[in-house]
Amino acid sequence: KPVLLWLRQDLRLSDQAALVAAVQAGPVIPLYIIDDDTPRHWAMGGASRWWLHHSLSRLDESLRAKGSRLILRQGKSADIIPQVAKQAGADSVYALHHFEPWWRNAEKAVDRQLDLHLYDGSLLLPPGAVRTGGGGIYRIYTPFARAVMTHMPPPAPCPAPDDIPAPSSWPTSDSLDDWALLPTSPDWANGFSKDWTPGEAGAQANLEGFADEAPDYATGRNLPSIEGTSRLSPHLHFGEISPATVWHRVTGSDEGTTTFLKELIWRDYAHNQIVERPDYGSANARADFDALPWRDLRQAKRDFTAWQRGCTGYPIVDAGMRQLWATGWMHNRVRMIAASFLIKHLLIDWRHGARWFWDTLVDASYANNSVNWQWVAGSGVDANMFVRIMAPLVQSEKFDAAAYIRQWVPELADLSDAHIHDPDAHGVRPPAYPAKIVGHREGRERALAAYRDVKG
Ligand code: FAD
Repeated sequence: KPVLLWLRQDLRLSDQAALVAAVQAGPVIPLYIIDDDTPRHWAMGGASRWWLHHSLSRLDESLRAKGSRLILRQGKSADIIPQVAKQAGADSVYALHHFEPWWRNAEKAVDRQLDLHLYDGSLLLPPGAVRTGGGGIYRIYTPFARAVMTHMPPPAPCPAPDDIPAPSSWPTSDSLDDWALLPTSPDWANGFSKDWTPGEAGAQANLEGFADEAPDYATGRNLPSIEGTSRLSPHLHFGEISPATVWHRVTGSDEGTTTFLKELIWRDYAHNQIVERPDYGSANARADFDALPWRDLRQAKRDFTAWQRGCTGYPIVDAGMRQLWATGWMHNRVRMIAASFLIKHLLIDWRHGARWFWDTLVDASYANNSVNWQWVAGSGVDANMFVRIMAPLVQSEKFDAAAYIRQWVPELADLSDAHIHDPDAHGVRPPAYPAKIVGHREGRERALAAYRDVKG
């Protein structure tokens, strides 16, 4: 009897425990469902859809090279899977566990109708595998990371099967092009393919490119002007590479490598938090933040738009926001600066920023995005203090962002390293570049006053 392989954010053939098990169980029908009904509010954003299109296309090619193919369907997963199973004469479904609240609900719904086999492999360790002395999950990252480290390395990755047995007949499939996942007019993603090669081979290439650089990661990761990080985030998000594969390739006890592996553990930490609090993307983890008097978006609309478009008058923020729009990715240090600027200098609710990132990031991940936005806001379970307000101009100088700004804000390309971080202050702002939409001190004081309201 054929079995279904239900693919979601695990678009790979290597180190794919569900695929290995499915191959042993019978002819395999790999199935991907584009499903906006199950996540509803969290349906995939535009940049992720661009990625998905290319990733599915690569996956289908890899499957065909092994005698198989990808079946595509559209609709609510818990309805479509039983339909495809019936058409194919299957009653078992193989899949990796995923931890977004909507996927956990869908897994329960599928399990009620068919024989669902779920496997680990999306994270280094399944959520809840490490627990505090009291039996709860870790809310604070540092002890969590320490506990995870005692279980590392993860099991060695398993290779892709040589052949994937095909059923005697295939169920019907949509055509990928009919899903219209790619933007048409305007084609805002026309710059994406310069930076990215979605799919398993692209993920491996990034890993190989980075592995030897890992010892420099401790300092390199903070410098947006250089490529000091792995750029694996969209590949990890779409599961084109497993975190265990990354771990086993980037090994070492030097400071750079250890720092990198700890960042990979942040990903596990974030997924543990969304299992504990499924509404992490929409509700403050610290309820006292519910009293924070954010500015009403209708009144703050101009500022919000200036932030989205990279026209705030703060070069480092603008460079980051333009990099995001042009490439679907932003450097982590700049994500922190841009998010902090929105939340604190503009006093705009982190949820509006997180939503913009959701739509524009190719690595948009419910866990990582929500946990990091709440970390910056100070409303997360483990968070930066709200009153610690980042000074964007100081950060820009400290992390040597001049070349990065020149790349993304061409209006400032002729300014010197000394002037580029704050052209207003040096009286050298070119007319084409906007003045600051809020002064640093003014923004900072407004934020601190708002926070005093929270504390009563
Ligand atoms: P590297 O530095 O090479 O790190 C390797 C991997 O570790 C990353 O690919 C990622 O999977 C993981 N990782 C690194 N930093 C973090 C972190 N702080 N939290 C969780 N995992 C991490 N990351 C996403 O994957 N998706 C998001 O939607 C997302 N939204 C963010 C929003 C804000 C406001 C901030 C401050 C950070 C966000 N991050 C998000 C985390 C981080 O910025 C990216 O993972 C990182 O920049 C990706 O680049 P890289 O692959 O080169 O990372």
